[in-house]
Formats: sequence, structure tokens, C-alpha cells
Amino acid sequence: MKIITGISDMQSFADSLRSQGRTIGFVPTMGFLHDGHVSLMGRARQSCDIVMVSIFVNPTQFGPREDFSRYPRDEEGDRKKCEAAGVDVLFMPAVAEMYPEKPSVFVVVEGISDVLEGAIRPGHFRGVATVVAKLFSSVKPHKAFFGQKDFQQCAVIKGMVKGLNLDVEIVVMPIVREKDGLAMSSRNSYLNVDERRRAAVIYRALFAAKQLAAAGVREPEKLRNKIQAILAEEKGISIDYIEIVDPESLAPVNAVTENMVLLVAVHIGSTRLIDNLLIL
Ligand code: AMP
Repeated sequence: MKIITGISDMQSFADSLRSQGRTIGFVPTMGFLHDGHVSLMGRARQSCDIVMVSIFVNPTQFGPREDFSRYPRDEEGDRKKCEAAGVDVLFMPAVAEMYPEKPSVFVVVEGISDVLEGAIRPGHFRGVATVVAKLFSSVKPHKAFFGQKDFQQCAVIKGMVKGLNLDVEIVVMPIVREKDGLAMSSRNSYLNVDERRRAAVIYRALFAAKQLAAAGVREPEKLRNKIQAILAEEKGISIDYIEIVDPESLAPVNAVTENMVLLVAVHIGSTRLIDNLLIL
């Protein structure tokens, strides 16, 4: 596995692969890799000649009071997981390489960036879209693989690709969960043993609402109340939002119909977790 840290090195390597007619599959990550990330690499491995993974904890997508400086890191472990997953190139630029000066150019996907996560984390999706655009111009992928875990992020990236006519296919992969249903996340490492046990309530709550919908309940309020009631069964959980939205526009729905998505964001202790589930 080749490790590249410079943007121009990455671009020339991508150019040489493209000139040989090889397809590049790309998995952007912030590292501290788990089986969710590995599933994206596996899909890239199946569908592309060359698999590239980036590890970059992007400062511009963290708010001033968020966890940028304490975000978990494990370079050695990540390298091994990438090698085991058959990754060809690990792109690990330093912050000074990606942002040699205070950034003055940003990619903003208006509208969908401002609701849900964006309402609570102002500027978050501007940071995400900007760094993904910069990573795309470094890695020059044919296909890029993202997880449904970050549902809104997928919508923002698709919006960016469409709006800027970028020649990259976006592939969204299902959420990989722990045995008790908790969506895998690098941030789960912040949870202590008791919080980790309680965190399983998030999926239980989403799943119960999905079952209500499957049984014919059409009022979004009833599903939200169900989720709220189940979350309340565990102590110390505070809710940022519970929303049922249209998967394209991310606008709240008046009636539950096919392909709606349930999204939740909660705090357990000092850890903020998000999850979602497609219904019907
Ligand atoms: P992150 O390192 O958290 O920025 O995530 C990198 C990519 O992995 C994003 O596209 C995430 O949506 C995806 N991802 C994170 N957790 C999971 C999961 N549990 N299942 C599937 N994909 C995931």
C-alpha cells in the first residue's frame, strides 16, 4: 500500500492511473477506522481497479466548541485495516498541506446544509463540502463511497456534485451496526461502558418507529413521540432533534409515505451521536 501525503504527488499518481485507463474508487474518512469504513472500502474494491482512502481530520467542519482536538486517532491501526481491506493508496495530507493559509474559498450547498445537523452545527457542511471538493481534486476518483450513517452529508455531497457538474459517481452504502444495533462511529470511543450500553436505545427507538410505520401509522408526530418515549427509557439522553424528512429535500413530511427517513441526534453524556433509518 502506497502512502501519499502531498496533494501534487497525489494528483500526478491519479493522472498516471487514469492515463492507463484504470478506474479510481475513493473512500474519504477522518480515520479511527471501523467496520463501517471497511464496508465502503470493500465496495470500492469490488467496483474499481484502484482503491484510495483518505484520512484527514478536517478542522473546517468542526465548530469552535466541538471535538476537533480530541477527535480519536490511530494511524498505525488504520494503516493495518486499510492494508487488510486491499487498499492501494492511503492519502494522509497534513492540515498545513490542505490549508496552507486561512481558507478563503468555500463550497456551499445552500438549503440542505442549513437544516438538521446544519442548524445545530453552523458551517459544518460548508467545511465538509469544501474538503470533499479538495479531496476530489487531489484523488481524481471515478467513484466515491459514502455511508448512509451521515445521511445529510450524502445529500450535501450529491448536491455539490450535481451543482458543480463534477465527474464523480457517488455511491451510498448502508449503515454498519454493532450487534445491539448501535451505528458504528469513531465517536463511540468517547462513551464509557454505561453510556455505551445505553446508546443501544437509539436504534431500538428508530426501529420501533419504523415498525409503527409498517403497521400503517401515517402521522409523523406519532412516530416522533414513539422515538421520544423510547429514548426516555434510558437516563441521561438529551435530544437535539427527531425528524422525519423527505430523503431528497430533507424537508419535514406531513404524512409518512414510502422512502421517508427518520433522523435523530442525541447527546449521551458529553458525546453527540447521530443515526437514521429508512422507513417502509
Ligand atoms: P468519518 O470517518 O466518520 O468521516 O466517516 C467516513 C465515511 O464512513 C463517511 O462516508 C461515513 O458516512 C462512513 N461511515 C461512518 N460510519 C459508518 C457506518 N456505521 N456504516 C457505514 N458507513 C459509515
